[in-house]
Amino acid sequence: MTEQQVQIRVRFAPSPTGHLHVGGARTALYNWLYARKTGGVFVLRIEDTDAQRSTAESYEGIVRGMRWLGLDWDEGPDCGGEYGPYVQSARGVLYHSDAGRLVDEGKAYYCFCTAHRLEALKFEQRESRDQIRYDGHCRDLDTDEVARRLAAGEPHVIRFRMPEGGEVRFDDVVRGEFTIANEELDDFVLIKSDGLPTYNFAVVVDDARMRISHVIRGDDHLSNTPRQVHLYAALGYPLPKFAHLPMILGGDRTRLSKRHGAVSVDFYRENHYLPDAMVNYLALLGWSFDDRQELFSRPALIEKFSLKRVSKNPAMFDNDKMEYINAEHFKRLDLLRKTQLVHELLREQGYLPGDFEVDFTRPVDLKLVPGTQPVAAGESQEGGTPSKQFHRLAMIVQIMGNRLKLLRDAPSQIGYFFKDEFPVDRDAFERHVRGAGGARRLARLADALEGLRYFERGAVEETVRAFADELGIEAGELIHPCRVALTGGTVSPDIFWVIVLLGKAKTVERLRGASARAGG
Ligand code: GLU
Repeated sequence: MTEQQVQIRVRFAPSPTGHLHVGGARTALYNWLYARKTGGVFVLRIEDTDAQRSTAESYEGIVRGMRWLGLDWDEGPDCGGEYGPYVQSARGVLYHSDAGRLVDEGKAYYCFCTAHRLEALKFEQRESRDQIRYDGHCRDLDTDEVARRLAAGEPHVIRFRMPEGGEVRFDDVVRGEFTIANEELDDFVLIKSDGLPTYNFAVVVDDARMRISHVIRGDDHLSNTPRQVHLYAALGYPLPKFAHLPMILGGDRTRLSKRHGAVSVDFYRENHYLPDAMVNYLALLGWSFDDRQELFSRPALIEKFSLKRVSKNPAMFDNDKMEYINAEHFKRLDLLRKTQLVHELLREQGYLPGDFEVDFTRPVDLKLVPGTQPVAAGESQEGGTPSKQFHRLAMIVQIMGNRLKLLRDAPSQIGYFFKDEFPVDRDAFERHVRGAGGARRLARLADALEGLRYFERGAVEETVRAFADELGIEAGELIHPCRVALTGGTVSPDIFWVIVLLGKAKTVERLRGASARAGG
C-alpha cells in the first residue's frame, strides 16, 4: 500500500472520569468529521486505566452525549470491531506483551525504586533547582539481580530506556514541526507497580494496534507526544499523523472550565438546544471554512471540514454565538421537523393530553396548514384523530413563525393552546379587560362567535370586525382584550388564527371567563 492508500482510521479516546464536556465533544467531532469526510473509520476507545476515577455513569454519559450529538462510531465497546477490545481495562495482556518485548530488547527495564526513594530524589532536585526527573538508578541492574528481585516479588515498575543524547522530531498537521532533545525526557514509566499501563504507553500500544492513522486530540497532549514518538520507534510501529487541536478558552481567556458556566454537553441536551446547532458551533471552535461562513448544516460540515484549516490559535467559547447559531438552526427547520421537536418537548413537560399520539411515519398532509389552504370548514380543531391533533400543532407552529425563536420557549409561548392554566399579565388584564369596557364586550363577542356555523379564519375575522363596527370602535379595541383573555398576554400571532386553533368551545369559555373575572 502506498501512503495515499492507507485507510484513514481515527479515534476518540475519552477517560470515563466525568461528563462529556465541550472540549471533549469538539475533539470527538473533529475526528468524526474527518472520518466521515474521507470515508474513514471512527473508533471509540475508553481509556479507563485510572481505576479509581473511572465510572460506569461517566461512560454512559459520554456515550449519551455523543449519540445526542449524532457522532456515531464504527468500532467501539458496544459494537465491537476487528481491533477490540475497545476498553483499556480489558487490554492488559497487550500492554504486558509489548512492554515485555521492550524489556527483552533492552529498550525498557525493571525499576525497583521505592516511592520513598523517588520522593527523596524529587526533594533533592527541587532543592538544587535541577530538572525533576528519574535518575536512572535501576537502568543498568544486572540481569541476575533483576530476576532474583522479581522472583522475590519485589514491587517494581517498567521504565522506558530513553536514548542518551540525540533528539526526537515529529510533524504536527496543525502545529508544524517539533524537535525535542532527549535529555528533556526521562526514563518514564510504562507499567505501574499495580500492573496497569501508564497513559503514554497504553495510548501508543492501542493506537498502533488499532491501526489509527491520525491522532487528533487536544493540545494538552502535545507535551506527551515526544515520549509517544519514542515508543512508536522502539516498538517498530508506524508513526501516525498527529493533529493537536487548539485550546478552548472562556471569556476571561483562561482554559474553559466549570467556572465559565455550562461546559457539559448534558446541559445543552437538557435545555433543548439542537444537536445540529451544537455540532455547528463546536466545529467553529478551532476550524473555519473561509473566515466568514458561520452556519453549516451537518452535510456541509462533512463536505467542507479539513485539518488544514484548523487553527493553531486558541478558540474562544462565546455563549452569544452559540445562542445565535442555535436560533438560526431552529429557524431553518422545516415545519414538520419543528413540529416534531415541539411535540416532543410539550409532551415531556406534560402539556399534551394522554391520547395525543402521533404516528410520524405517516405523511403529514400539509394542505391543511395555514398559508396553503384554509382550515377545513365546520371542523373543530380540538381532539380528533391523531393526525388532526398533529395538524393542529403544526398549524400553531406555523402561525408562530419566527416568533418562536428557540425550542425551549415553546411551552411558555404556546402552552395556552393546550392548558387552561396559563400565566396572565395582570397589568394587561386591568388595562384591556377590566378597563375600557372590555369585559362586557368580551361576553358579547363570545355570543357572536358561538353562533358561528363554520369556525374558520375568514368567518371569525368578519365576525370580530363587524362587531367592532357595531360598537363604533376600532377592531383593535376588541382584539386587545380578546388576546389577553385567550392567551394571557399582549403579544400573540394573528389573533384570528389563535381563535380558530383554540377552537370554538375554548374561545367562548375563555372570553366568558375573563369577562366574569373582570365583573362584566
Ligand atoms: N484519554 C485521554 C484523554 O481523555 C485521551 C488522550 C488522547 O487522545 O491521546 O485526555
